[in-house]
Amino acid sequence: MDTSKSKFATKAIHGGLEPDPATGAIMTPIYQTSTYIQDGVGNHKGYEYSRTLNPTRDALEKNLAAIENGNYGACFGSGLAAIDAVIKMLNPGDEVISTNDLYGGSYRIFKTIFEKYGIVFHFTPMANPADVEALVNDNTKLIWAETPTNPMMNIIDIEALAAIAKKNNILLAVDNTFATPYLQRPIDLGADIVMHSATKYLGGHSDVVMGALIMKDEEVANEIYRIQNSSGGVTGPMDSFLVLRGIKTLHLRVQRHCENGAKIAHWLKEQPSVDKVFWPGFEDHPNHDVAKRQMDDFGGMISFSMKGNKMEDAHRVVANVKLFSLAESLGGVESLIGHPATMTHASIPKEEREKSGVSDSLIRLSVGVEDADDLIADLAQALA
Ligand SMILES: *Cc1c(COP(=O)(O)O)cnc(C)c1O
Repeated sequence: MDTSKSKFATKAIHGGLEPDPATGAIMTPIYQTSTYIQDGVGNHKGYEYSRTLNPTRDALEKNLAAIENGNYGACFGSGLAAIDAVIKMLNPGDEVISTNDLYGGSYRIFKTIFEKYGIVFHFTPMANPADVEALVNDNTKLIWAETPTNPMMNIIDIEALAAIAKKNNILLAVDNTFATPYLQRPIDLGADIVMHSATKYLGGHSDVVMGALIMKDEEVANEIYRIQNSSGGVTGPMDSFLVLRGIKTLHLRVQRHCENGAKIAHWLKEQPSVDKVFWPGFEDHPNHDVAKRQMDDFGGMISFSMKGNKMEDAHRVVANVKLFSLAESLGGVESLIGHPATMTHASIPKEEREKSGVSDSLIRLSVGVEDADDLIADLAQALA
């Protein structure tokens, strides 16, 4: 359905989707097939082999393009497989400017996989866009931004980066996993590629691992599709179905994540054992104005540090919660708690980690959609 003039909730439910042409099924069927019968050589219905194109994945890719206000979508077996495809557009000698405070796995693929193929990565804080511009040279081909950043909740001005990228003929890719397209649409702000770990809010139910890219321009999209088909890191039809279903309630879930997140962030700020609370909704957050401009709300991801900055204290809190679950990942309906220094960010060297603010006592919350009072009571008993 053409939803290009519709609002978000309508796009989430109908964008890019048609009833199944064979049966009229309102839900996109799980086309669990590897191949498609041809009537004669080269005479097929658009589908030849499921690595290249599968109807369930195709529906999801079109739906993702609709909700991100892009033109093309491509889905992969994980968020990292999606990042892998973006970096494979580059050649040895090309340079990437990446935010320094990013998902640990993104750092690991850049440093331990792609550096050895001669791609050069610069890691810098991006809260001040001038720090990015200072690193641009003739070899710079890609700016990699993540906002809000993980786990420090820094905010990067996407429009300012897009201006630098455009002026210097560089691609801008934004990892939009934390914000989701319901809160932030990087393509509208000038980005060329939006990346998602669909494992998180898009799937939303902690039951699937998937990555996605959404592109604006045909040329970039064709290159991504060539890599998707050539390297083959695609996602399967069952997982595509699950994420399609997840997206239908994305706006409802994220509204509640935001409400609960705001209540918990304000509550944490008042607790005597808590040192700093990192959440872009606070007026004293260094880039609160940018967050207000480019996001529609502030999300359900919160980090906080403990007074005294002792690792044992953080370990005690994450061990004592009962309703929050100690686990990696985020963005599901259930609340999760994590300790970045020993979990998601263990692959980043200690000095690098501390430079970006990931201290020993830092705790990260993925606030779910349970009752906020129950979540606060659980944190209260764990902090005590
Ligand atoms: C989880 C995550 C990724 C990696 O995605 P996977 O699906 O786990 O491969 C990348 N970026 C961010 C911000 C994430 O949270």
